Amino acid sequence: MLADDEVRAALDAIGDALPRRTENTRMSTMGAGSDDLEAGRRYLAAAVAEGWAVPTWPKRHGGRDADPADARTIGRVLREFAVPDLYPYMIGLGMAGPTLLQWGTDAQRDLWLRGIANGSEIWCQMFSEPEAGSDLANLGLRAVADGDEWVLEGQKVWTSRAMWARWGLLLARTDPDVPKHAGLTMFAVDMVAPGVDVRPLVQMNGDKHFSEVFLADARLPDTWRIGAVGDGWKVAMTVLAHERASAGGERGGGEGKVRGARVPTWLRELRDAGAFSDVVRRDRAMRIHAADLAGNWTSDRAAASKEPGPAGSGAKLRKVASYKGHAYTAKDARGAEGMLDDSDGHIDFITAPSMSIRGGSDEIQRNILGERVLGLPGEPRVDRDIPWSQARKGVI
Ligand SMILES: Cc1cc2nc3c(=O)[nH]c(=O)nc-3n(C[C@H](O)[C@H](O)[C@H](O)COP(=O)(O)OP(=O)(O)OC[C@H]3O[C@@H](n4cnc5c(N)ncnc54)[C@H](O)[C@@H]3O)c2cc1C
Repeated sequence: MLADDEVRAALDAIGDALPRRTENTRMSTMGAGSDDLEAGRRYLAAAVAEGWAVPTWPKRHGGRDADPADARTIGRVLREFAVPDLYPYMIGLGMAGPTLLQWGTDAQRDLWLRGIANGSEIWCQMFSEPEAGSDLANLGLRAVADGDEWVLEGQKVWTSRAMWARWGLLLARTDPDVPKHAGLTMFAVDMVAPGVDVRPLVQMNGDKHFSEVFLADARLPDTWRIGAVGDGWKVAMTVLAHERASAGGERGGGEGKVRGARVPTWLRELRDAGAFSDVVRRDRAMRIHAADLAGNWTSDRAAASKEPGPAGSGAKLRKVASYKGHAYTAKDARGAEGMLDDSDGHIDFITAPSMSIRGGSDEIQRNILGERVLGLPGEPRVDRDIPWSQARKGVI
């Protein structure tokens, strides 16, 4: 079993690519306002030799075969270090990688996992479409078999990181004549192949981090199919469970705590700026801090289970509440100066609403918790058992 000091010493040995966190450490979280790919790539390239970034992955794929207890120790100690914002790399590290470990073939793991672990290849997630967001199983992008290949036609939207990505995890409709969940299949797509057209969209915080992606006669070999034909929904549920769990955890870097500091930087800054002379604001900040601590302990405990389940929705909701709480409290504490769009913290303030939408909206997370954790009655799902092609013609 790894001891904290052993991990600390090994991480210190990484050097410049992973400095200790200090009171002056500032970095973006969730990519807000930042297009920096380099800091994350340097860290991942340096961490891969001993598998620190993805400790539970097999050694041969860039991990260190760590058991859950050691992974928790590593995660805890990493918070003391200035792990860069890994937003550009998170689909690979947090979603595609774990999904390939569960559903991929040996050849697929050999092809893709090391490039994810060492930061040399960025992945994106192509699930949402104009007609399929919360109702993801309604998606219509078609994949049609042609010998040993598949031909893709259709459109995705809100594909974060698509313009940086080498690979995309794509959910497509392979059979329109069965009920919507049954006719889906998961693939990996080469994002720079002919027929794949990525068009960036501007978000309200100014970032151009997500795109529309148009696929027209784009081809991929059957060896890039992930899971069986028609099993796409099962594979997608694995991807989404990992997305929620990693959105609720701290794997994204950018966040953490100076070693030995009892007060986190954001609270100290508010205090030093005199924000706590207002008792209501102080009470609000302390509630957020208490919820953050409880959220971290809960995420640590959840990290002990090998596969994230519906409880990941709880982790995601907690993280969203925390992000918004930090951003809105800090904005409020700036008073009149906070009205300026170049004031400190503005980018977090204007990014905060998106947190309730990306990775599945708050309402959808609550539906999942209600139905799958609390066992409450499910929503009416009138199109669940009829062929997707008929439901689309307005049968319901
Ligand atoms: C910043 C950002 C990044 C994103 N990145 C990606 C990405 O990389 N890849 C990707 O595939 N997608 C991505 N998305 C898309 C995201 O997953 C969807 O926006 C989200 O799932 C909601 O879908 P929608 O926008 O179609 O809204 P809709 O599904 O149309 O929902 C509209 C509103 O209705 C509510 N609603 C819908 N159905 C129900 C229900 N059954 N019960 C209660 N309320 C309901 C929703 O909560 C929401 O408030 C991203 C979105 C954002 C904002």
